[in-house]
Amino acid sequence: MSTSIEENARGYVCLDCDNSELFKGWSYLFRLYKPISENFDFNNEIVCPETISCHECSSKNIGIEISPNKIITKHMISERSGAWLVGEKWLLDVDETTVFTTDFIKSLSCKELIKIIFESEGENNYEKLHNQLIEHGFNEWNMDPEFFSKSRFSLALVYIYSGGIIRQDEYGLLDEDSSYGFAKYIGF
Ligand SMILES: [Zn+2]
Repeated sequence: MSTSIEENARGYVCLDCDNSELFKGWSYLFRLYKPISENFDFNNEIVCPETISCHECSSKNIGIEISPNKIITKHMISERSGAWLVGEKWLLDVDETTVFTTDFIKSLSCKELIKIIFESEGENNYEKLHNQLIEHGFNEWNMDPEFFSKSRFSLALVYIYSGGIIRQDEYGLLDEDSSYGFAKYIGF
């Protein structure tokens, strides 16, 4: 099950200098592309950090503040499993050491993540896409949204592996000044 952290909780915090706004790291950026007028485009980008260090003091000692008086120190970033804070302050519970392995794709956490992404775009067909993902997995994507219209998809879920600045504000996580690594998609 996914939950949210409490509204006035800060989310990721540096346990050495108390910074909770700027981090460095690698993230999976999820987007749900759909036809918007002539072209395929997306509204939200869901930042799912894989590694995080403090931008202010470079510490890798990072916690997750889930309520104003509770900080979790064992989580996905520190232990490769457990609580995973993503996007707009959503909290998933993952038990796989590597996200996007076949086992992860089959898991309830992956289904919850896809549900979150679909709901944030006002779409509801996430179960169909999750089933298709279990069967076929992700494909390489050249980051050209025109590919989706040429392929006559109605929706395409993508993730981009991205390294750079991760900014956190009261609404959640944003990716800034990043350089993109590989990208993958599944369309239907
Ligand atoms: Zn710090």
